[in-house]
Amino acid sequence: LIYVDGFISWIKEFAQLVAANRDLLTELDSAIGDADHGINMDRALGVTVAALENEPPPDVAALCKQVALEVVSSAGGASGPLYGTLFLRMASTTGNVESIDPKEFSAALRAGMDGLAMRGKTQAGDKTMYDALAPAVSALDEALASGAELGAALDAAAAAAEKGRDATTPMIGLKGRASYLGERSIGHQDPGATSMALLIRAAATTLA
Ligand code: ADP
Ligand code: MG
Ligand code: MG
Repeated sequence: LIYVDGFISWIKEFAQLVAANRDLLTELDSAIGDADHGINMDRALGVTVAALENEPPPDVAALCKQVALEVVSSAGGASGPLYGTLFLRMASTTGNVESIDPKEFSAALRAGMDGLAMRGKTQAGDKTMYDALAPAVSALDEALASGAELGAALDAAAAAAEKGRDATTPMIGLKGRASYLGERSIGHQDPGATSMALLIRAAATTLA
């Protein structure tokens, strides 16, 4: 089972990975955006971790909701509302429970993914964070359905997210700032897909 403490470890690990990759994320965004993705995410997660430590949420839904609210109010840009929607949808899917099982986690992540797609009006192949998240959710579902333990399933999800991230490089950006560049966005890895792969990698290191 995944408890509130596990979720907190997940978000802390994500914050650390983003901090360690802050310059990379910003550099990627300087090629096809406005050079702030690392700055946006690092700032937002710093605030989020501080809030979680200050007032640990009582249940899984409260935690996801708190993450959503902090990220929306401090990340800004396109990514803030998109990560915010992901966590807000997770909150409404899990309910106010102490813990969830692996399949409930996977269902919550899928609901979050659907919310993100709706909010961003995006789909697979647009060269966005969705291109890292969607394969991760599929891989997680598949691994759990075939009887894998949570740890192995999350490892498969993280590998799928990283593959999805890499696959954004040859794509043409169809959403957000990358879309302003049209074909000139080809050959650059999407910054949002890069941070999303870190979120799933962080889950694999902390939730199992
Ligand atoms: P901004 O572009 O406003 O500066 P960020 O730099 O923080 O915001 O985030 C950029 C990332 O947001 C992109 O790399 C992309 O992955 C993601 N993104 C932008 N627009 C969308 C969208 N409509 N749907 C999904 N993801 C998007
Ligand atoms: Mg940007
Ligand atoms: Mg910006």
